[in-house]
This record gives sequence, structure tokens and C-alpha cells, in this order.
Amino acid sequence: MVRKIELNNRQEKILQIVKDNGPITGENIAERLNLTRATLRPDLAILTMAGFLDARPRVGYFYTGKSGTQLLTENLMKIYVKDYQAIPVVVRENVSVYEAIVTMFLEDVGTLFVVDEHSHLAGVLSRKDLLRASIGKQDLNAIPVNIIMTRMPNITVCEKDDLLIDVAKNLIEKQIDAVPVVKKAETGYEVTGRITKTSIAKAFVSLADDD
Ligand code: ADP
Repeated sequence: MVRKIELNNRQEKILQIVKDNGPITGENIAERLNLTRATLRPDLAILTMAGFLDARPRVGYFYTGKSGTQLLTENLMKIYVKDYQAIPVVVRENVSVYEAIVTMFLEDVGTLFVVDEHSHLAGVLSRKDLLRASIGKQDLNAIPVNIIMTRMPNITVCEKDDLLIDVAKNLIEKQIDAVPVVKKAETGYEVTGRITKTSIAKAFVSLADDD
């Protein structure tokens, strides 16, 4: 069974007691373990927050009966773009390919977002877009990024209140490394953040954290 958190020995015991006897009060659980109610409080809090137990006033604790997979899915459905977005790195569409390459190195990102004179999203530049433009003998200072970028309306975007799992599906489906987090403005999209494969990896790891 997949569990979000590793339970310690005492928590396992509590879980078993509630499974067998629930609904049961905290006081009663403490008696069975020869412990004080105060000692148990943190364990009960963890078990309740993790979703294994539920508590009702005047009734006590009961086992939710949810599997580890169910709990994992529930937790996944609580992770939003706004919780894991990174700062976007943007360049204007008239900058040169050379400048974009320098920016990519200086800012240490793999994807740049390109904006127009109104600061609205115009395009995306990936590492390979810039490599491709560098293969020939062209003067990289003379080529503006807007002739090599992937442009609107073909940009996959997301919004801060989207579920991260949906963005992850998009990254896989479209075979891309990053999407801009945008806010709709009257005449286009403002770029407010960035979700990358690293954001998804961080969220994935957080699912295994105790807190
Ligand atoms: P790389 O090309 O460095 O492997 P990607 O896989 O992210 O990086 O990019 C693949 C292609 O998809 C590139 O041409 C890039 O311009 C384009 N692209 C990247 N991100 C997006 C996006 N969010 N929406 C649309 N196209 C994108």
C-alpha cells in the first residue's frame, strides 16, 4: 500500500485501536495505551491530517477506510500551479538570438518567454530553438528572436489556479519542458510565472514529506 507518510510504531498502534474500536475518544485510546491524552495529541493530529482518521465532536475518532492510493490522489488534487510556480524569465521579441542565449545562461533557465511591447506573451524559446539557430553561419546578433521562437497562439499556457497535475499531463503530451503561468489581460496574456519539469519534480517529492 502506498502511504503518504511513514507511520511510527505508536501511530500504527493507534490506527489499529481505532480500526477495531472506533468511534473512540482520545481519552479511551490513551487509556488502552497507558499514555496520557496529551502525549497522544501530536500522533492523533498527524493521523487526522494525513487522512487516516477523522474526528467528530462528542463521537471521537474513526477510521476513514481510505487507501494510501486514495489519499495520494486526494493530496494530488490539492496541488496548484501557484504553489510551485517559479519566476519567469522574459525577453522582448526584438532582442537578438545572441542576447537570448546570454540571458539563458545568466538566468540559469532552459526556457525563455518572449513578450511584445505591451509585455504580453508573444512566444517561447527553448534551448534547442537557440541551438538550431546557431548551427549555420548567420550572425546571431542580427537575428531577432521573434523569427525563431514558437509563437502565439501556439503556446501552451496555464493559470495560477490550475491543478499542477493537469500541467504535468500537458508537458508530457506536448513534449515540452515548461509552460508560462499567465494572467488574462484585455489584449493578451501577462506572464506571471513559470512551471517546469523541476516544479513537477518538487511537487512529486513533497507528496512523500511528513508534513
Ligand atoms: P528543448 O527544445 O530544448 O528540448 P522543449 O522540449 O521545451 O525544449 O521545446 C520543444 C519545442 O517546443 C521548442 O520548439 C519550443 O519552442 C516549443 N515549446 C516549448 N515550450 C512551449 C510551450 N509552453 N508552448 C508551446 N511550445 C513550446
